[in-house]
Amino acid sequence: MSSLRDFSKKKKPEDYYVNLIQELERINGRLHAFNEISHDVDRGFPISVKDNICVDGMEATASSRMLKGYKPPFDATVVQKLKDAGFSVLGKTNMDEFGFGSFGINCISPARNPFDEERVAGGSSSGAAVAASIMKYHLAIAESTGGSISAPACFCGVVGFTPTYGVISRYGLIDYANSLDKIGFIARSSEDISDVFKLSVGKDGFDSTCADFKPLKKEKDRLVIINQLYERLDKGIKASFDRSVRRLSAKGFKIGYEDVNEIGYAVPAYYIVSMAEASTNLAKYTGFKYGEQLTDFSMDYNSFFSASRNVFGEEAKRKIVLGSFIRSASVRSMYYEKALKVRRLIINRLKEILDGSFIISPSMPVLAPKIEEARAFTPVQNYSMDVLTIPPNLCGFPSISLPSDYVGGLPTGMQIIGDHMEDLSILSFGKEWEKDFIYRFKYNIGEI
Ligand code: GLN
Repeated sequence: MSSLRDFSKKKKPEDYYVNLIQELERINGRLHAFNEISHDVDRGFPISVKDNICVDGMEATASSRMLKGYKPPFDATVVQKLKDAGFSVLGKTNMDEFGFGSFGINCISPARNPFDEERVAGGSSSGAAVAASIMKYHLAIAESTGGSISAPACFCGVVGFTPTYGVISRYGLIDYANSLDKIGFIARSSEDISDVFKLSVGKDGFDSTCADFKPLKKEKDRLVIINQLYERLDKGIKASFDRSVRRLSAKGFKIGYEDVNEIGYAVPAYYIVSMAEASTNLAKYTGFKYGEQLTDFSMDYNSFFSASRNVFGEEAKRKIVLGSFIRSASVRSMYYEKALKVRRLIINRLKEILDGSFIISPSMPVLAPKIEEARAFTPVQNYSMDVLTIPPNLCGFPSISLPSDYVGGLPTGMQIIGDHMEDLSILSFGKEWEKDFIYRFKYNIGEI
């Protein structure tokens, strides 16, 4: 199912645009997928860009009141590459503020799940997944730090691909945590993503952490399930995952189970590293040039900046407070340095497994919760929902979330993790999987 090729084979592909923008605006009033819809689109294959990635002349707010009014005068490298290849930017998609969240609710108007509007779309790339879910021809540029591509793709029944760290330039990305952030894609098929991925990779003089993509090609017919993660699954998710595993073993894959005792430390290590990095990244926002600016200059320095930085949402404030604490000299070795050691141990152990296998799990340990339920989660409950998506993200491994099943009308997803530079192999796995998967579109306003 390649909508890219299908689109280019149309006699008049531009006809897809007749009424598209009006339809999108109508639907967006209910689903809040886009922060901004472009009215000046040339008519190539339609893509959207997560609101923390810069597009020349379009507001880039990262769904934060702090960046309201910021219009970058340049394109992020990935946007530039895709524009050069003839893609057209339809708009900027909604997200958790600065990427902080797993459900898309840490923003002004949460995106809604097309399968059930009372439920979350997943986060932080909430709008990207909704856009890919409701549009017949679409590819969303998204970003993941700890699972922000897999989580919403899983909840919205689409494919979410997170590449190896560093193979797609981060130039033009509003950083969350620089050692973890990766730009990736959400679409309806692995084939579309594979085509676009190949156009997006490559060294970039503007991002010193970006390396050449050197594909690793190994034949693998073994899939590993990590015991300690399998035990953490909800009953319904476990049954649905078991069905997928049976399908894979019928296709000839060997299924193995392995203990990874260190895996329980992945979530705490991730949150320590990501909060430390986030707190330094947030330090530059003063509310002086962009955002909801204060006009009362009679306040003293501290009061002025406390007031102007008060526009950050609750999770951003939590990251500033905890991240600054974690980095402070007196506790640095207790938390931050220890987390880096744990990260290394987990990388080493998972690399041993990935040498001869892919690792599989569901993408999320639960079905998409109702927005009200998600709002009631404590921070620790929230963070623990990332238990399956954090391991590949912490280690910089490529991963893909594939639509796998439906439970009670809601989509579930399966996550495949490959070794560094095995991006194309997991995308090929996705292509094979999708041949047998029946896409059941369930959005009641209709597909556009
Ligand atoms: N939920 C995770 C966090 O808040 C991951 C979000 C992301 O990948 N940007 O850090």
